Amino acid sequence: MYSCDGVQSINIMNLIQLFKNISGFVRPYRWIVLITLILTLIGSLLAQVNAIVLDKTVDAINQLVGTVDFTWAKAAKILTVISIILLSKELISALVTYAQNFFGEKMRIGVSKDMSLAVVEKILTFRVAFFSHEENAAGMLQTRITQGVMNLSRTVQNFFIDLLPLFTSAIIALILMFSANVYVGLTALAIVPVYFIITIRQARKLKGWRRNMRTSHEKRSHGIMNIIESIHVIKSFNRENIENEKHGKIQSEFYDNQMNVRRTSFYYDALKTFVRQLGTVLIIILTAYLVLIDYPGMTIGKIMYHVMLFANVTAPISQLQRIFDDMNDALVYAESFFDILNADSEVETSGTYRPETIQGNIEVSHVDFTYPNGTKALHDISMKIESGKITAFVGLSGAGKSTIINLLDKFYEPDCGSIKLDGVDLKEYDTQYLREHIGLVLQKNHIFEGSIEENIRYGRPDATHEEVLEAAKKAYVYDQIMELPRKFETSATELSGGQQQRIAIARMFLKNPPIIFLDEPTASLDAVATEQIKTAIDDMKKNRTVIIISHSISQIIDSDQIYALKEGRVEQSGNPDEVYKQGGVYKEIVDASARSLNIEKLAQTIEL
Ligand code: ADP
Repeated sequence: MYSCDGVQSINIMNLIQLFKNISGFVRPYRWIVLITLILTLIGSLLAQVNAIVLDKTVDAINQLVGTVDFTWAKAAKILTVISIILLSKELISALVTYAQNFFGEKMRIGVSKDMSLAVVEKILTFRVAFFSHEENAAGMLQTRITQGVMNLSRTVQNFFIDLLPLFTSAIIALILMFSANVYVGLTALAIVPVYFIITIRQARKLKGWRRNMRTSHEKRSHGIMNIIESIHVIKSFNRENIENEKHGKIQSEFYDNQMNVRRTSFYYDALKTFVRQLGTVLIIILTAYLVLIDYPGMTIGKIMYHVMLFANVTAPISQLQRIFDDMNDALVYAESFFDILNADSEVETSGTYRPETIQGNIEVSHVDFTYPNGTKALHDISMKIESGKITAFVGLSGAGKSTIINLLDKFYEPDCGSIKLDGVDLKEYDTQYLREHIGLVLQKNHIFEGSIEENIRYGRPDATHEEVLEAAKKAYVYDQIMELPRKFETSATELSGGQQQRIAIARMFLKNPPIIFLDEPTASLDAVATEQIKTAIDDMKKNRTVIIISHSISQIIDSDQIYALKEGRVEQSGNPDEVYKQGGVYKEIVDASARSLNIEKLAQTIEL
């Protein structure tokens, strides 16, 4: 539920929903909750001890002073008993607080760990389409997950560790006040709603400001990051002043928001202190009056007793505003967080077909495809891709080449038409089994944190060390690795772009799949490496299906079959020579490549 200012407001339904969703995560910790509740009760009772002891002490000393019975021994006895009671109480209180904090944190950290594990486990099962939604862009998804986990686990802690003990203590203090004297109890009870209303007003006022604070906080971090990331551009254009100005604006917005939050907080805090003091004064006057009129059971010690109990009643309500704020934050993130956890419709579907071997003959018939954002990327695509041949997709950027590979890898499903592998629709295949038999090398391959060996082994975790070395040799990266001080143990993220690309190719060689998709695999390689990789790929094509997307003209003209794409449609197909003779987009690309290579000059240079 959103209020007009777009800020989610606390509402009973929201809270019930929130606790329903959270309950699954709290269940494993029910023993901790039980222990905490018992500790809470002990703690709440202990919190009243000071008031009771002070009441009795004042009365006992009052009786002793000025009477003929007075002796120092009697006074010392009273003081010794008080000291023992108060110190024992503090000792037990310290142990109870320690245990409460410990179990509270144990639960919060545990719930936070379980939530993070659950959400990562869940998103790993999602279709690729989920990640291409604009609102699921990496940074946004990450914020939603981390903020969700942080706020929700804090809510669990707030509720069981802060809210319950405070309120139990307040209720016990109120009961003691009523049992001491009904009028005193009623006075305390009358102040509570006033205090409560002020607290709720404070939380409401702060809500909007806090939302602004979050936004300007994000802007500030984003601004600083932008400066660091673009430092070369800023300096080369001498735009330091402009950046300073831009940052100045962000900072003053941040300053204004912060000041607004503080001003509102201080105003309401002062009001609350005043109301609390007002209550205290009323209670002192009332108790003193009752003592003066000799009301039964009213002694001078009751003044302190009531004041201290009243402090126990108001303490939790002053915490309410903080807990309200936290709950509001939790509600803001809870919805989107649980949307991820409950998004079963996003889970990738899979068939069950697992043939003994895969030949690798692919037939695409009349396929249309639209991305989740509505971009129609493919129109009526039909093609036959045979095993033992290299098939090249050519076309200008945005023609739909990578999209076809996305469909062949089952990352997305076509809108209509069919894709068959060895005569069976891709939908029927067990998705994991299918991907085990496909090797995918992209233009920008992901290198994971870890050593070079671990990165190559990602292709086949059970491979031997020798097999990893063999794969590195085939990808022409072995010699370069051996020159590094820590050889295969070197962190793969330290390698250059071209070297990382070859690690990705080695990973694919190690996997040794019957179907290989290469999406501009040599884009970040130098000419020598490109030629080496081309040879390695040519060697691999026997009994394999190889699809390559490349801007390297040598790779294209050596392929067995070409599909030239234009604006999501197959414009031409056939062997490279035939297709070239037809003219069209393929001829345009080959001619442009030849011109950009400056073939005549190149030939002259080579002759020299
Ligand atoms: P190519 O590989 O030929 O350069 P693509 O297959 O990457 O072309 O893109 C084909 C069309 O689909 C382009 O218009 C592109 O903008 C769009 N497209 C590619 N990926 C996505 C995506 N994840 N979400 C939305 N549109 C996309």
